Amino acid sequence: MELQPPFRKIIHVDMDAYYASVAELDNPELRGKAIAVGGNEIRGVVSAASYEARKFGVKSAMSSFLAKQKCPHLIFVKTDFERYKEISTKIREIFYEYTDLVEPLSLDEAYLDVTENKKGNPSANAIAREIRERIFKKTGLRASAGISINKFIAKVASDINKPNGQKTIHPEEVIAFLEELPVNKFYGVGKVTAAKMYNLGIFVGNDLKKKTIEELVSLFGKSGTHYYNIVRGIHNSAVKPNRIRKSIAAERTFNENISSEIFMLEKLEKIADELENRMKKSKTKGKTITLKIKYSDFTQHTRSKTKAAFMQHKSEFFPVVKELLYQEKLKNSVRLLGISFGNLDTIIKEPFWVQLQFDF
Ligand SMILES: [Mg+2]
Repeated sequence: MELQPPFRKIIHVDMDAYYASVAELDNPELRGKAIAVGGNEIRGVVSAASYEARKFGVKSAMSSFLAKQKCPHLIFVKTDFERYKEISTKIREIFYEYTDLVEPLSLDEAYLDVTENKKGNPSANAIAREIRERIFKKTGLRASAGISINKFIAKVASDINKPNGQKTIHPEEVIAFLEELPVNKFYGVGKVTAAKMYNLGIFVGNDLKKKTIEELVSLFGKSGTHYYNIVRGIHNSAVKPNRIRKSIAAERTFNENISSEIFMLEKLEKIADELENRMKKSKTKGKTITLKIKYSDFTQHTRSKTKAAFMQHKSEFFPVVKELLYQEKLKNSVRLLGISFGNLDTIIKEPFWVQLQFDF
């Protein structure tokens, strides 16, 4: 089956070894050396590694102790989020000259929809090249890009000629590209799903394609439909531009429904810690606290309270959360809890999402 036009033009821009490259930029004596950002020789976790360090097997999320064993001359540098954010803002300014449809995934990655763009340039490939050159001129940092008809393929493509390269998967190449793509590269396929697929003899897109939609749904539930579509090049998720942030939230879904309020309070403590962290990092304060409760029957309730003074510290806002929790008896067992801050002291801020690891 051939894919039918019209096609969107999506670019995924990904900075090369961003944190480590910023460290090299700011400390020329580190250039070309094996560096790990985050952690130290004894404890902690590596947040990012330079390409030189990667040659020795140093990776992000690795314990710094192990990293040092793999690469004895590894140099540890501190993370500097203020600086990453500052440069990230400069990079995004370039993106916005081409399109308003910019969806940042993190400080160093974004999707751009350039189907219609401010330069009237029909070539997404040329735009990506121009953007990468401009990023380098403006910041001294290298970026890679992937270009295709949807976000998922663009993201896979940006990895192909990394670092300092780009790759376009043209509409007529999409089907063949996906047929050969290893299943663990598919959007939404994590380690667990990949292992399950390998057991079923599904290794690349072409194997996945041989399964009927019914088979996939019976094997993978709702995600089955997604896999069925995605391997056929159907992935219509739009590039969602960040809007002005009006609230900051953190939430958590549980493995098992919980009904004990003591246990909920414990979970809420953790969510509050994360929220406090983010509030501090973004230098944001808020007046309204909302507790979100989703019950096991999927009904959802929120309880809010607005204070006269701005709050940021957990010691200030957690008592309010507690009050909200005990305000009324919970009617059912709970599967998700969340806390959000509204009525923020500022409107325009770098948007971000608190990403907590789901329990399942
Ligand atoms: Mg990157």
